[in-house]
Amino acid sequence: MRLVILGGGESGIGTAILGKKKGYEVFVSDFGKIKGNYKEVLIINGIVWEEEKHTEDLILNADVVMKSPGIPDKSPIVKKLVEKGIPVLSEIEFAAPFTDATIIGITGSNGKTTTTMLTHHLLKSAGLNVGLGGNIGKSFAWQIADNKYDSYVLELSSFQLDGILNFKPHIAIITNISPDHLDRYDYKYENYIDSKFRITMNQTEEDYLIYDADDEAIAEWFKTHTTKAKLIPFSLTKTFSEGAYIKNNKMEISINQEEFTMDTEHIALEGKHNMKNAMAATSVAKLMQIRKSTIRESLSNFQGVEHRLEKVLKIQNVQYINDSKATNVNATFFALDSMNTPTVWIVGGVDKGNDYNELMSLVREKVKAIICLGVDNKKIIDVFGNVVDMMIEVDNMNDAVRMAQRLSEKGDTVLLSPACASFDLFESYEDRGNQFKQAVKNL
Ligand code: ADP
Repeated sequence: MRLVILGGGESGIGTAILGKKKGYEVFVSDFGKIKGNYKEVLIINGIVWEEEKHTEDLILNADVVMKSPGIPDKSPIVKKLVEKGIPVLSEIEFAAPFTDATIIGITGSNGKTTTTMLTHHLLKSAGLNVGLGGNIGKSFAWQIADNKYDSYVLELSSFQLDGILNFKPHIAIITNISPDHLDRYDYKYENYIDSKFRITMNQTEEDYLIYDADDEAIAEWFKTHTTKAKLIPFSLTKTFSEGAYIKNNKMEISINQEEFTMDTEHIALEGKHNMKNAMAATSVAKLMQIRKSTIRESLSNFQGVEHRLEKVLKIQNVQYINDSKATNVNATFFALDSMNTPTVWIVGGVDKGNDYNELMSLVREKVKAIICLGVDNKKIIDVFGNVVDMMIEVDNMNDAVRMAQRLSEKGDTVLLSPACASFDLFESYEDRGNQFKQAVKNL
């Protein structure tokens, strides 16, 4: 069996290792350059590869192809494979049949990483032999090749889910759905929504789907679709006999006739969105029969993930917060919503079709000054120009932070929550967040 792998990144190399171990004839092809350390792994394992090209003769003879999530379906080589009827799978689809481990799959537009890390933390703290993978950390296929874990918590993007046929998590989470990546879905929101729901398409009556019952797109989908999985909704406003909710400042979870209650003030994560993430992760912990005392302890000591509403420093009684990972309006909505003080808001970058009006009432209520940090800030200026008293454009992080310091007073918060991608002025959202933190430390 010939396995061709398109893309020589983390998931590609992991799949190559697993494929080789399982006796496939493996070929890795990357249209860009393959990183040095990955090349070494390929060479040590005697795996054939090429870079900066796709040689059709070596690709179109595949029995099965693993396509890395970054490669769009529209790319010419993928189109040719599909025309020839060769199965094009994602890493999780290829790898999952080689393990009996319990799989927890987490998707959604926002909150995937936070929920995945928190779920992993809960299970690991309870002593389970649990791996973390998918979009974060080490490749899932690679971990299976090393035969490491009894269960996996996987962060799954819609691109990973597009490439599945039979993959089925025992427990699935859809954190929420809002428009994102529409360029990869023919600019049709329903295609993107359907893609997220593929996470449940192979689930059976023994499996579980945990989802945000406050989410409009999810509610719409349920009007015309069903799943066999047992449903576990979570909500900030509704209550359920089976599900998770917040009532009188307590998180209440009721699953399989068992109850779990915890004061939200003892949960280390802050903000309404994080209460949702905590409800989703705790529902998994309950399903995996983790002890209540372990859940309580883990929820009270999980400090969150870098670049997601990360508290940086308090300087002259002004709190600086790094939410660089907020690359869409929905993420920024929850960041602004969780502000308890007047806020100087640093926003802007590459806009993927944002509707800033969704933020209007929060901006009116909480934002005293806006610092636009992007190459093209016109849309932000048009929407909020008459709403806030102060609005300034800058083109680098040091200026943004210095201006923020000047415009803030004791008791305020300076929030970097760009609602945009970063690649006009920065290499990545991590680079943007790191520059912010450095600039704050230099004040
Ligand atoms: P993802 O992996 O889906 O991008 P992250 O956990 O990295 O999600 O968070 C991305 C951004 O979304 C951050 O700015 C974070 O503060 C915000 N966020 C986290 N959880 C949620 C949620 N449940 N709903 C909306 N926004 C969220």
